[in-house]
Amino acid sequence: MIPFNRTHISENELDYLTEAVRRGFTCGDGPFTRRAGGLLREMTGVDYVLLTTSCTHALEMSAILLDLKPGDEVIMPSFAFMSTANAFALRGVVPVFVDCRPDTLNLDERLLEAAITDRTRAVVVVHYAGVACEMEAIGKLCERYELALVEDNAHGLGGFYRGRPLGSFGCLATQSFHATKNVQCGEGGALLLNDAGLVARAEVIREKGTDRGQFFRGMVDKYRWVDIGSSYLPSDVLAAQLTAQLESFGTIQIRRHAVWRRYHDELAGWGTVNGVVQPTIPDGCAHPAHLYYLLLPDLANRQALIAHLSKMDVQAAFHYQPLHVAPAGVRYGRAAPGGCPVTEEVADRLVRLPLFADLAEADVDRVVNAVQTYEVG
Ligand SMILES: *Cc1c(COP(=O)(O)O)cnc(C)c1O
Repeated sequence: MIPFNRTHISENELDYLTEAVRRGFTCGDGPFTRRAGGLLREMTGVDYVLLTTSCTHALEMSAILLDLKPGDEVIMPSFAFMSTANAFALRGVVPVFVDCRPDTLNLDERLLEAAITDRTRAVVVVHYAGVACEMEAIGKLCERYELALVEDNAHGLGGFYRGRPLGSFGCLATQSFHATKNVQCGEGGALLLNDAGLVARAEVIREKGTDRGQFFRGMVDKYRWVDIGSSYLPSDVLAAQLTAQLESFGTIQIRRHAVWRRYHDELAGWGTVNGVVQPTIPDGCAHPAHLYYLLLPDLANRQALIAHLSKMDVQAAFHYQPLHVAPAGVRYGRAAPGGCPVTEEVADRLVRLPLFADLAEADVDRVVNAVQTYEVG
């Protein structure tokens, strides 16, 4: 079976893990945490980077940092991961779900203004598949209405919008290093801060609401409970794995792009004949080959293609189910005016193909052949 995903072991990964364990500094904020943070700063151009235990936790930190109160509203796409909404629902904040664009499947910026109310405090964007949202239009609206902009950049590390790295647009951006992402340490994440004024409080929130960070820098003489927070600091052992992965980012990306490009070129003819839509990459967007998806004409064909691929030993996967109609989405949030008809449709039609750095050329041949032998009915 060709799996949907397999983790890549980068060049120095096992050595760094051994080094971290031998050094005995296995709790958070050790030497590897600093190294991984430095690499992320270089990649994104964002000055303040805090490694976290997950992207979910970085989103929870964002909700605390923005001082959101119960009843406040945060606008986000319905076509997103549940953590994007859950992090805000945890604070009593109401997620307001906006529909996606039919081409990039990103939050449709043309629907954003109609979703704004006098309770709206922030907009969270997800760069689906690492293809940038229309950041110029979204940024302008956020400025005009004085809304905080947060990027859930779980897919977008290494992606650009008009030459500027994804993760550098919001006052806050979150990264994921879950096993399924381009670079991974099993479970991990980061919070990127573009606003120096938020850094001190972010450190406190990440350290169980204490001023432990300032204590270790000699700025206070004892450390105390000073704010709300939680335990969002990853082990330096995980940071060691992540450091090695980030150092191999170039190699990982060359291989992922090669697979992405082959799918895109070799399935184009089959797609045209069968009415299957391939990803759209707008001008000015450079994506990081996070995932390769196809949009089938309908749910029945999507399911039949997944079954057909499975029979040919290729594991394919559907993706996000609309948040605005999910049980918790209905309980804690609501759809923006007009609902999310595009999201409902594409969620049923989308299938993702295997894409990982160590996918062999011959296995790409097999996936392409397996897809091409499916006839849309
Ligand atoms: C993977 C993912 C997350 C969650 O990441 P974790 O690190 O597993 O918490 C959040 N948002 C998006 C868009 C994701 O793809």
